[in-house]
Amino acid sequence: MSHRHHDHAGPCGHVHDASSSHAQTAAGDAEPRLTGERSTRQRAAIRAALTAEARPMSPPEILQFAQQHVPRLGIATVYRNLKAMVEAGELSPVPLPGDRLYYELADKAQHHHHHFRCEVCERVFDVEGCDDTFNALLPKGFVLHAHDLTLYGLCADCSRSKPKRARA
Ligand SMILES: [Zn+2]
Ligand SMILES: [Zn+2]
Repeated sequence: MSHRHHDHAGPCGHVHDASSSHAQTAAGDAEPRLTGERSTRQRAAIRAALTAEARPMSPPEILQFAQQHVPRLGIATVYRNLKAMVEAGELSPVPLPGDRLYYELADKAQHHHHHFRCEVCERVFDVEGCDDTFNALLPKGFVLHAHDLTLYGLCADCSRSKPKRARA
């Protein structure tokens, strides 16, 4: 496995980003750290979102899906729950280049796979399988222990709605 430790340099600590700047009064955001039944419901909604989509998701995406189960959920509460779920070993941050954070279920993260990020919709998808020819790329005498691989392009939805360019 190549998943490096990822310190949360992204929006994790900054809950008042663009998506929540006007939402100070939204229920959930204004509440103190939540435990018990309410947070159980929030985490179940987050899990349900990741399970239903079966791909890594960013906090705003997770919020959008989780609100179907917990309508008053706010982005700050999502960030708080995501952090707690990572600490509990339930979710893993996806180590992708760039400053946008994505999360996946820890079960999924444990088996070797890679990701595809759509340049248009910015959704991230799991890619199964791996190229086993990386050893051939190494300079003589080097020993390979791990690799990171992220593919970029257009997802099926976006490639359908884009006029086709000549293939390279
Ligand atoms: Zn797309
Ligand atoms: Zn691989």
